[in-house]
Amino acid sequence: MSPKKVYKKVEVKGMSNSLKQHYEDKVRPYIDLVDSLRSLGVEKDLNLPAIAVIGDQSSGKSSVLEALSGVALPRGTGIVTRCPLVLKLKRVEKCATWSGLLTYKGQVKDLHKPSDVGKAVSDAQNVLAGDGKGISQEMISLEIKSSEVPDLTLIDLPGIARVATDDQPFDIEKQIKDLIEKFIKRQETINLVVVPANIDIATTEALKMTKKMDPNGQRTLGILTKPDLVDKGAEKSVVNTVNNQVIPLKKGYMIVKCRGQQDINENLSLSIALQKEEVFFQEHPHFRPLLEEGKATVPILAERLTRELVEHINKLLPQLHKQVEVKLEKTVNELRGLGDGVPQEEIGRNNFLVGKISNFNQVLTDMMRAEEDTQKSEPKVFTKIRKEFGKWKEQLDDKAIRLEQNLQVEVEEYTKTYRGKELPGFVNYRTFENIVKKHVQELEQPAIQLLGNIIEIVHSCVNKLVSSHFEAFPHLLRAAKEPIEDLLEQEHGKALERVQSQFKMEKMVYSQDGLYSRQLEAVKQKPEPAKMYLNSKGYLVTKTVSADVREMAQHLNAYFLITSDRLANQVPLIVQYHVLDQYFSQLQAAMLSMIGSQNAEKLIQEDSGVAHRRRSLKDRLERLRKARQLLSKSLCLSHM
Ligand code: GDP
Ligand code: MG
Repeated sequence: MSPKKVYKKVEVKGMSNSLKQHYEDKVRPYIDLVDSLRSLGVEKDLNLPAIAVIGDQSSGKSSVLEALSGVALPRGTGIVTRCPLVLKLKRVEKCATWSGLLTYKGQVKDLHKPSDVGKAVSDAQNVLAGDGKGISQEMISLEIKSSEVPDLTLIDLPGIARVATDDQPFDIEKQIKDLIEKFIKRQETINLVVVPANIDIATTEALKMTKKMDPNGQRTLGILTKPDLVDKGAEKSVVNTVNNQVIPLKKGYMIVKCRGQQDINENLSLSIALQKEEVFFQEHPHFRPLLEEGKATVPILAERLTRELVEHINKLLPQLHKQVEVKLEKTVNELRGLGDGVPQEEIGRNNFLVGKISNFNQVLTDMMRAEEDTQKSEPKVFTKIRKEFGKWKEQLDDKAIRLEQNLQVEVEEYTKTYRGKELPGFVNYRTFENIVKKHVQELEQPAIQLLGNIIEIVHSCVNKLVSSHFEAFPHLLRAAKEPIEDLLEQEHGKALERVQSQFKMEKMVYSQDGLYSRQLEAVKQKPEPAKMYLNSKGYLVTKTVSADVREMAQHLNAYFLITSDRLANQVPLIVQYHVLDQYFSQLQAAMLSMIGSQNAEKLIQEDSGVAHRRRSLKDRLERLRKARQLLSKSLCLSHM
């Protein structure tokens, strides 16, 4: 009995004219786009849309890939796929001959017939992952051009092994899972999960992993294999699985039959195997409906995958475009940071050093004047310094307020302890002096701290500046670091000495008569706050303050206001003079002295890595620009 041809024959080769037109219009451009991006080498910069094939060991991954590509991949028991293999399938004109290109670790190998592939891939794996049974994260890329393949890019990954055998690393399972995760977690990847139809699908590790990375199954398509090995009576549950009723996935399932071990032993060709697959589904009482619904056979899978990939690419286009824009900007900035490199001729080289140093010095001058260009979020050096000065003023004001509140108590305590024979009302100048000295002393540490903070700010800014200017010139950088550190330390020392002598001077207690009288008058004019306190019985009572205590407190208050104003200006002036003014001008002089020095030639020797980096950044710039152009064009098309 010849089977009725109820299934839709989906063969890309024999497409009807309108289908072919549709393919050329809607499919080809996207596949070509990703292909062009890939051949530009953009994969180094971002993840391109791809389909990753994952599954437990011996689930039939390689068999599916073989059936799709028409190329025999290495087979055997245990872990056969030991490196990620990118299988790029490119359909070409019918008359064109088959060609293959294997690339790994900078090596390129031409392949002339499908039967060369198996050995070439296993040789490449041995190079990357060693002769043993280990695995490697490094990619092997296999590009196949043929009239028999669909336009697809698939990534074959090692199968998930549960137990390590003797000659495998003990953590092989973790290594493989890490590798697989790296691929399936990418938004750009469609996960093709291969599961044998003759086992309980719920137990497969691969499906568990994709569930974790893609919980809603948005990017996951299930493939059941080995339908010919399903036990009698179990067919119904397989059909339910394919109909998405067991473990539902957004993209659902498909079922295929590949070459079994016996087929391989008998050297059954891949094309005959496809024919046999077709017949198998046509004649199968349970699975035939799946064929009718377009959920079975390798050719339909190929068509489905191409469609999925195209939709996926279309969806990712805006995102890819954006990523390229961001990378481009970063690359341009980085290139700018590296500069143009040193000229060859002597005059040019001299001028180059002069230019480098005067640019650096100019920025120092700008910093001193608070006129430097700054990055978006980074404030100017002087802005940071001014903030510290502001804090210093706040500290002084705080102290003045606290003093005003507590002076009477303090004076009372002091007189109680140190009073001599004198009657009340005889204000003791020594007491006044002692209290003044004690409080001024308390300000010395905060002033030194302020100096330390400013030193830190300037140090970090100058360090950043010198690195950004001389990064590419290790000798120059090293030569500059020396005066940067030494001179700052020197000026730190000088400023510290001055701040300390200021505080020594403050202990002399001095103010111009006129100034002092005015301040004292102002203090006396101020209404005195009523001093209330709770007495031992818990009543709120007014405190009586003796006349001499009040008088002394007023004097102290007046004097502190004067000292505080003096220190508020004086300490920042000292700090600024040494840490900004003196330090920067001496640093500039030190930098200029390098120009005529004997080792000037050495100073502009570029770091060997830099030229290389510049080259690779330029390459990246070029390829990203081309990629942007391609993507913009495709974005326009997809909106049409
Ligand atoms: P991988 O480890 O996931 O790559 O699995 P393979 O593709 O190497 O397949 C494991 C074994 O299952 C091989 O012996 C295949 O011939 C066999 N196999 C794969 N698909 C089918 C199928 O549809 N039917 C039968 N009977 N055997 C299959
Ligand atoms: Mg395999």
